[in-house]
Amino acid sequence: MANLLQQARVAVQEFEISGGNLALDFANTVSRRRSDQVEELLCSYPDLIRWARQAGILSSAEANRISRRAEDHPELAAKVLQHAIEFREAVFRIFSAIAAHRTPLDSDLQILTVAFKNLSRKAELAWTSNGPDWRWTDQGDSLEKILWVVVRSSLDLLMSSEKERVRECEAETCGWLFMDHSKNQSRRWCDMKVCGNREKAKRFHRRNR
Ligand SMILES: [Zn+2]
Repeated sequence: MANLLQQARVAVQEFEISGGNLALDFANTVSRRRSDQVEELLCSYPDLIRWARQAGILSSAEANRISRRAEDHPELAAKVLQHAIEFREAVFRIFSAIAAHRTPLDSDLQILTVAFKNLSRKAELAWTSNGPDWRWTDQGDSLEKILWVVVRSSLDLLMSSEKERVRECEAETCGWLFMDHSKNQSRRWCDMKVCGNREKAKRFHRRNR
């Protein structure tokens, strides 16, 4: 029994929420993106729910409700996951282009447009204690709620001057995106502990060879 529990715990993977922006953290649900050993971290709809929980966009009650719905509608859940991944790849390409001072592709902006049009039909503006915000109205189809929150964050970032701070990790194989809030805007790695140290070690070895 203890062994089984341990295995279950190992299987539940922790996502790295370090991009400094929800849209970028979503783009970072792929490991070693720039290598030939790309690792997909969203392999099932429950992975998407776990990511959303860790990213703080679902309460545990919401996550439980959505989990149950996903179990009841596996085909729909698979379709929503597929859309989420297509959308994520467009988000990655758009912000990777912006980080490299290139113009994003029209086809990728189109993917954002279509996602926003489809999902915004299920949302309305409401006045909250923090001012105006979107309220998700479609309780019957809330499998898409996670995607809606990510779509909104992606658009918010794209439309704001904050996008000038988006960087792509300089480690050769990483491909993770992050917000550079350093004073002189010189942050180079997604995570100093992971990519930063690895790259420094590589350079050290190269120099000393
Ligand atoms: Zn990195």
